[in-house]
Amino acid sequence: MIAQPVSPELQAEALLDQTLAEIASFFPMTQADYDMLSYGQQVYGVRMTEGKGRQQITVIKGASGNHYIGSHSEQEEMEARRDRDLQFFDSWYDGLQHLSTKGKQPERVAQVVTQRWPKRAKRSKKLRVLSPNSVARQQYIQFSPGALFIVELNGKLVKLPIEALYPWEYYSRTLPPVLAEQTLEWDFRKEVAECIRRMILGVSALFPITAEDQALIDLANAQIRIKFVDHFWQLASAFVTESGKYRVGFPRDDMEEQPVGIQHDTKTGRANADAEVGAIRKARRLYPGDPMKTVVTVHHATKNHTHEDGELIRIVTSCALCRKSLLHYSPNVKNIIPLNGEGIGKVPMRVLYPLPDFPVPGLAVAA
Ligand SMILES: [Zn+2]
Repeated sequence: MIAQPVSPELQAEALLDQTLAEIASFFPMTQADYDMLSYGQQVYGVRMTEGKGRQQITVIKGASGNHYIGSHSEQEEMEARRDRDLQFFDSWYDGLQHLSTKGKQPERVAQVVTQRWPKRAKRSKKLRVLSPNSVARQQYIQFSPGALFIVELNGKLVKLPIEALYPWEYYSRTLPPVLAEQTLEWDFRKEVAECIRRMILGVSALFPITAEDQALIDLANAQIRIKFVDHFWQLASAFVTESGKYRVGFPRDDMEEQPVGIQHDTKTGRANADAEVGAIRKARRLYPGDPMKTVVTVHHATKNHTHEDGELIRIVTSCALCRKSLLHYSPNVKNIIPLNGEGIGKVPMRVLYPLPDFPVPGLAVAA
């Protein structure tokens, strides 16, 4: 048999798998971890017998060793499905609430596992272990960097720090002292960061920046300059579709039709209108059925928020919510990102949202 050359996309997936396995090897599963899983299953069982119905259960271990339960019910999910505007708080969020309200001061998260009812088809009694959703990734990395999540990696239960599930943030937040003083048991922060750095550099080497990518960056830069208003949190997200349908240099009156999403907002968290979401809306409207091929997001410095390197405009990585939305809209989309001191690179969005919490189609890329 002649060996087929492996596509860069498949090589990137292999690098991601290898990196996650390497990081997981720093944190072997212990009896205490399996006890956490059983604890969640017990709570589930008790609530079922009490007639509370099926629930998604998140067990959190705090830095002090205390355990907290977060949950939401199937009924709450149904209500949220009926009215999209309802603020729905899931078990990850509920767990954070318990952790913050029980003691005198909020406690830092050390470890998390989320389980929910099995799929009907399987009929097994065992609960399913879930990867965190995008909001949980965003919230936990801000509240508790280093928190470990028990997740399934290639059919095996492993522990991964939130930094591996939401890799390559462009902007690290400082923890308030009350949380920063609560140090975690493990001390592999540097090793984990190094594994992720090696993976991002390795993957980006597989996808050289092309003239088309450069034109895309120029488009985003030009648009953010035109639309900039000080005091807002300002981003522009430009994309090119798989069929290459995008044009740079529209006449001014056609600006509405540029493949760029713009964000003017004041950092209102979940209610943000992120530039990437604007880009997805435009892609749907202008090029229906033509998924995104590449996307780049740039941030414009303001009086209140300057970039460390003093640059006016810089390329940034997207938040967890946007990574998920982009991956959902275009499973094979690539993202131009800063290599944090080593220039810029391009990586598949899949690498920036590992172990997705929703079904992503397999890679359909010819070698
Ligand atoms: Zn975002």
